[in-house]
Amino acid sequence: MAWGGGWGGAGGAMFGGSQSTGLPFGGIPSELMGEATKLMATEPHHEPSDLSFHQRPSAKERERLTLPKMLKVYPGWVVGGSVLVILTSLILQAGPLLTEFAIDHGMVVGHRSLRVILICSALYLAFAVSGAFLQRQQVEVTGKLASRVMHDLRIRVFVHFQRLSLDYFTDEKAGVLMSRMTSDVENLQQLVQDGISSFAAQGLTMIVITAILFSTNVVLAAWTILLIVPLLFVFTLWYHHASEKGYLLSRDRIANVLADLSESLYGIRVVTANNRQKRNIRNHRHVVGAYRDANLYTGRVNAIYGPSTNMIGILGSALLLGIGGHMVAEHQLSIGALVAFFLYLNRFFAPIQLLVQQYTTLQQGRSSVIRLREVLQTPPSVDERDDATKLPTIEGRITFENVSFGYSPDNLVLHDVNLEIAPGESVAFVGPTGAGKSTMAKLANRFYDPTSGRILLDGIDIRSVTLRSLRSQLGVVPQEAFLFAGSIRTNLSFGRTSITDEEIEEAIDVVGLRDLIDRLPEGIDTIVHERGQTLSAGERQLLALARAFLARPRVLILDEATSSLDLQSETVIEKALDRLLEGRSAILIAHRLTTAQRADRIVVIDRGGIVEVGTPHELLANDGAYAAMYQAWIESGGRDATRTA
Ligand code: ADP
Repeated sequence: MAWGGGWGGAGGAMFGGSQSTGLPFGGIPSELMGEATKLMATEPHHEPSDLSFHQRPSAKERERLTLPKMLKVYPGWVVGGSVLVILTSLILQAGPLLTEFAIDHGMVVGHRSLRVILICSALYLAFAVSGAFLQRQQVEVTGKLASRVMHDLRIRVFVHFQRLSLDYFTDEKAGVLMSRMTSDVENLQQLVQDGISSFAAQGLTMIVITAILFSTNVVLAAWTILLIVPLLFVFTLWYHHASEKGYLLSRDRIANVLADLSESLYGIRVVTANNRQKRNIRNHRHVVGAYRDANLYTGRVNAIYGPSTNMIGILGSALLLGIGGHMVAEHQLSIGALVAFFLYLNRFFAPIQLLVQQYTTLQQGRSSVIRLREVLQTPPSVDERDDATKLPTIEGRITFENVSFGYSPDNLVLHDVNLEIAPGESVAFVGPTGAGKSTMAKLANRFYDPTSGRILLDGIDIRSVTLRSLRSQLGVVPQEAFLFAGSIRTNLSFGRTSITDEEIEEAIDVVGLRDLIDRLPEGIDTIVHERGQTLSAGERQLLALARAFLARPRVLILDEATSSLDLQSETVIEKALDRLLEGRSAILIAHRLTTAQRADRIVVIDRGGIVEVGTPHELLANDGAYAAMYQAWIESGGRDATRTA
């Protein structure tokens, strides 16, 4: 079904659902009007979402993902944030300078002045308060910027997911894709929100302090900076290297812990049944132990770095006291300047330690950008041609022309299949598990493209038409009907944007869901839970059939539910199918021969090829593969089922 249609459909129906909660809406009572207006005024304003979706990405969407490009969309915020970072870093350095001035011009012998001291402390307070204010603004601006950029990114990646083809979404990938959307996006959020601005602020602070120190006294500045900075630099490099190693180690090991945990939890039945508990515990102790070792290592590294840098700081202070004190005694330096030096020196260390921490954020953010870029640059394997046209309304002739296909190119699962399905004809695919029945159905729906050969609808190669127009004329009922969280109404109208209550009611009657709906507390507005776990397998399949009925496709592809349905559900489903198939071409992947027997023709598939084709009657008379299957089925008690049905 077309994805684009689905979006609109879900939205439209959602409104329908909320209107019919039972009581008619009588308007807001006058005494509550004032409150309501106030509440409305504080409601956040969300831009109306642009819900257009095109299979071909626009030029903008095709752009390489980089952080600057993401930020460029909000130039005002970026400039505002940068200005605030610069101002804050400058203003916050005024304190030591004021202290210096207060000492040299208000406290030392010969220069006592209460006025200077008072003015300096007032200014000190003023600078500190405005620094705090600016910092608050800056955090707010970068926070808003980060939220916006991440919102755009989430939508962009999600839209790309909608474009990608089925082969991308294998089971193993699900966890990886989830982590792209969660931890990678969060890493970036962290980076934009704090990382970049802190990095800039700390870097800037160091530059400002260095400049101030040199302008105060070149000799002393040179001594301090030249002795301390290289030492600190070497230590920091070591720390960075060691902590990154620790980070990678603990990241890998926690992944092992989680994998082991999830395997044990999901497989708990098998574990219990096979008495594997002890072995599991031993295993888990092993991976948890490895994780602990990684953490211990990180702890050791931190324990070395923190105190060591403090030590270097103390060394610097001692040096400053010796050299600076001597210079003061020799009248080469004022006392105020020496105190300012001490104050600045302390401030010099904090940024370095922070920079090291932020560097990890920076690295993580960078690798997240790379990983997200990889996702965004993966082209859909089933894509629309540039010159794709709209598929006109078809009669429903389906042709497989020399079709071969493999999920991986070196392992073909379909070999040179030829088949023609006439308009209005229903064809059942039967054959052993793994023969290639579902694969043929997936190719007809263009979930995958054939490795060689063509599939035609009314003589038109399905690769030459737009995916949207193709899928709007194809209805797919999968084996496990997927229901979205929402009401039954939302779930049914899913395939179409405008749908009336009468149509929904009709669909319910046609597929025989009336009994169920009458039993449910709120009829078609009853909420079904995610994946429809509150309904039985048969009911879910009936809902899927009703959904297909409402979408009125020209061609229906149905993968029959394998889950053992009770006889009554089977009968209901078969009746529903009869109605659904009226006048439609259909491919039925039949797991029950009762269904196959009702089809116009049966295609027996084995090992990726068609071994027999004919009407049920012909095939039974033929005494070939199908007749053998049928015989085996009857012997296993199938005849009872046929009779009841
Ligand atoms: P059937 O529907 O007849 O049971 P399928 O068409 O599902 O069989 O599978 C045909 C073959 O293709 C099987 O060998 C199966 O293992 C393989 N196969 C099915 N789906 C995939 C997939 N997504 N990736 C790789 N191989 C697959």
